[in-house]
Amino acid sequence: MPLIVQKYGGTSVGNPERITNVAKRLLETQRAGNSVIAVVSAMSGVTDALIKLAREVSSKPTEREMDVLLSTGEQTAMALTAMAIQSMGGKAVSLTGAQAGIVTNGVHTKAKISNVTPDQIKKHLGEGAIVIVAGFQGETSEGDITTLGRGGSDLTAIALASAVDADACQIFTDVDGVYTCDPRVVPTARKIDTISYDEMLEMASSGSKVMQSRSVEFAKKFGVTFEVRSSFNNNPGTIVKEESAGMEQVAVRGVSVERNQAKVTVAQVPDKPGCAARLFTALADAHVMIDVIVQNVSASGTTDISFTMNRDELEKIGDLLDRVAKEIGAGGVSKQDGIAKLSVVGIGMRTHSGVAAKLFEALAKGGINIQMISTSEIKIAVIIEEEKIAEAAKLTHTAFGLDAA
Ligand code: ASP
Ligand code: MG
Repeated sequence: MPLIVQKYGGTSVGNPERITNVAKRLLETQRAGNSVIAVVSAMSGVTDALIKLAREVSSKPTEREMDVLLSTGEQTAMALTAMAIQSMGGKAVSLTGAQAGIVTNGVHTKAKISNVTPDQIKKHLGEGAIVIVAGFQGETSEGDITTLGRGGSDLTAIALASAVDADACQIFTDVDGVYTCDPRVVPTARKIDTISYDEMLEMASSGSKVMQSRSVEFAKKFGVTFEVRSSFNNNPGTIVKEESAGMEQVAVRGVSVERNQAKVTVAQVPDKPGCAARLFTALADAHVMIDVIVQNVSASGTTDISFTMNRDELEKIGDLLDRVAKEIGAGGVSKQDGIAKLSVVGIGMRTHSGVAAKLFEALAKGGINIQMISTSEIKIAVIIEEEKIAEAAKLTHTAFGLDAA
């Protein structure tokens, strides 16, 4: 009998009615002749509410207790889902991460899975039950509850699919799959049928986040093919899998946009070893996440260094950079928000030439100025004015022939 792992995210189990809908879908899947394992997230908003609650009793809750607390969100959802199935006359049993055999290291709040022993799952499946597993959690070999980082239910599903060697792994969410661009930005965006792990990872790191990146990395490492699809309809979704030769024929698979960025420039940095190190060590110590970095060609012994980051992190910098700039003998520091990043992603870029030229031409057509450029093997990203991002995305989407027919 085929074995299917289905994961339902927080919105899909967001209220009793939706849980009932998920229960129905699970029963239908089982009645179609499959063994079914379901992984559920906490009902939408619950994890955030628990975090808020913790802060109300303690300014610095320990990570161990945070894990104990947060794991309850998924446990609520799993029990309710099992009850809903039972009330429809089906057979279901819910299991915590620990009961499902998910063993992790001891890094609380972002634990790594070290192994999965799905004995209990197999036993219940053998007895004809639908097995509902709490996502996002595991336990250490000492028996402490751990969680796998925000969005970690995706990882639970992929890891289980790998451990039980499932015939299919379906990630049900509130969107129809992965799109060529955010349809709210580019209305002509299309659902992508098949995407490679690397493209999926690049799209996620460029702002099109559908799944937890760690789970995609895990799937890549263990060769787990999975599908991202909607829990609100029966449309086929996007298959995420190892790349194949045919996938390289398309130069650009998708366009990602990331708003809410800021650009910081440190002017006239002395052009000598150690200056960039001092600058970025200070930022790292302040836990500021840096994205694109550009250093200009040196002129008369100094150079300008610019970088981008999330605008919300700007306040973390405060006057830190002014101090470091002074220490290393640089000129001024300027900060600018209202910046956005547009990226084109595709493994076909490795074999197609002219991708950058085509992107820049599309932007030129709209009179859009490029402030910074960054590239990887399968991505070209540009930093532009935030106000122009929607227009830029539309022009780029059209230029690469991605518009729906
Ligand atoms: N409930 C957890 C979160 O909100 C895990 C998940 O939804 O995947 O991050
Ligand atoms: Mg999620």
